[in-house]
Amino acid sequence: MISRYSKKLRTLEAKGRLRKMIPLQHEGGRVRYEGRTLLNLCSNDYLGLGHDTALRQVFFQDLDSAECDEWGFAAASSRLLTGDNPLAHRLESEIRRAYGSEAVLLFNSGYHANIGILPALFGKGDLILSDKLNHASIHDGLVLSRAAHKRYRHGDYEQLHALLTRYREEYDQVVIVAESVFSMDGDEADLSCLLALKHEFDVRIYLDEAHGVGLYGENGLGKAEEKGVLQEIDFLVGTFGKALASVGAFVCCSMEIKNYLVNHSRSLIFTTGLPPVTLNWNHFVFKKMLTMCQERKQLSRISWQLRDALEGRGIPTRGSTNIVPIIIGKDSTALNLAEQMQEVGYLVLPIRPPTVPEGTARFRFSICADMLWQDIEDLPEQIDFMLKGV
Ligand code: PMP
Repeated sequence: MISRYSKKLRTLEAKGRLRKMIPLQHEGGRVRYEGRTLLNLCSNDYLGLGHDTALRQVFFQDLDSAECDEWGFAAASSRLLTGDNPLAHRLESEIRRAYGSEAVLLFNSGYHANIGILPALFGKGDLILSDKLNHASIHDGLVLSRAAHKRYRHGDYEQLHALLTRYREEYDQVVIVAESVFSMDGDEADLSCLLALKHEFDVRIYLDEAHGVGLYGENGLGKAEEKGVLQEIDFLVGTFGKALASVGAFVCCSMEIKNYLVNHSRSLIFTTGLPPVTLNWNHFVFKKMLTMCQERKQLSRISWQLRDALEGRGIPTRGSTNIVPIIIGKDSTALNLAEQMQEVGYLVLPIRPPTVPEGTARFRFSICADMLWQDIEDLPEQIDFMLKGV
C-alpha cells in the first residue's frame, strides 16, 4: 500500500510541481549544472558579493587575527542564555547608525524575523492587514499571531483604505504589512500611499525590505531610504540572505519594541544565536554595501536594458526592479521552457504555484550587479524564439 505522503508526492509530480534540491557547483556568477556551465539567473546575490573572491580574502585576512580565535564558529546557545556576544551588539550598532533608527535587533534569518515579530507584537484585539503577495514567511507570521488578519489585493490601496474605514475602530492596534519590493513580481509597494494611510488611520507600518536592502537609496538601505521615509516606518525588516550575501536578518524599531521582542519573540528566544563568524562577515559586508553606489547604478542600468529588450520583442515583463518576471502561465510550459533555457546556457528555474498564484507560473530573472550586458544580451531573442514554439 502506498503511503499518503507518496501519493501526494506523485500528485505533485503529475502536476509538474514536485520541488527538488539541486546541488550546484558555483563558479562566480555561473553554476555547473548537469555537466554544463550556466549563467545563474536565479540568484539573490544581487550585488555579486557572494562570489567576490577578492573581497572574501580581505575578510579572511582580517579574521585571521584575534577575533577568529576568540569567538570561533558557534554561538552554542540562544542570545538570551550564553549565545550573545559583543559582535552581535557591534553589528546592531552599525545597522542602527546607518538607518538612524532608535534600535536594531538581529534575527537568524528573514524567515525567523517575520514569524517572530508579528505574533509577538500583535495579538487578540489587533488587526494585521497584509498584501496578498507578501512572502510566505509573513503569511506564516500572520497565522502564528492571535491577531485577526485580512489580506488585501496586491497593491490595492483603495481596498486597503476601505478595510481601514470599515474596521479601524473595532481593533486596538492595526498594522499594515508589505514588502518594499515584491519578490516574485519585482514591483514596489507605494510607500507614500501606505504612509498616508498610517497617518489617516493611526496604524503602524511593517516593511519587509528583503529585496530592497543593498539596492536602493544613497547608502543602499532600501526603498524607504530612496523615498526619504526611513524614520516613518515603524518596523523595517532587512535580511542578510540576499544582496548581503550571508544569512541573518534585522529589524529597525524603537527601543521599547526591541526590549519587548527580546522578551516575547519566540523565534529569537528559542533558537541558537548566529555564529560569531557570520556576525563578523555580516558586519564586514554591511559596511561594504553602504559604499556600493556604482554597483547599484550598474544593476539598475542593465535591469532596465533587459526589460526594454524583452518588451521590444513584445514580451511583457512585470515590475520595475532588478527582478524581471515574465509570466508563462502553465506549470508544464514553464518547466519545459526552463529546460530549453538551460540547454542554451542559462539557469532559469520555473516559479510555480503555490509560490505564485495559479496559472501564473513564470520565469523570474534575477539580475545581479556583477553581470555584464554581454552576459544577457541574447536572452530576449532566445526567449522570444522559445515562446513562439509553445
Ligand atoms: N521576506 C521576503 C520578502 C523574502 O523574499 C524572503 C526570502 N525569499 C524572506 C523574507 C526570508 O528571508 P531569509 O531568506 O533571510 O529567511
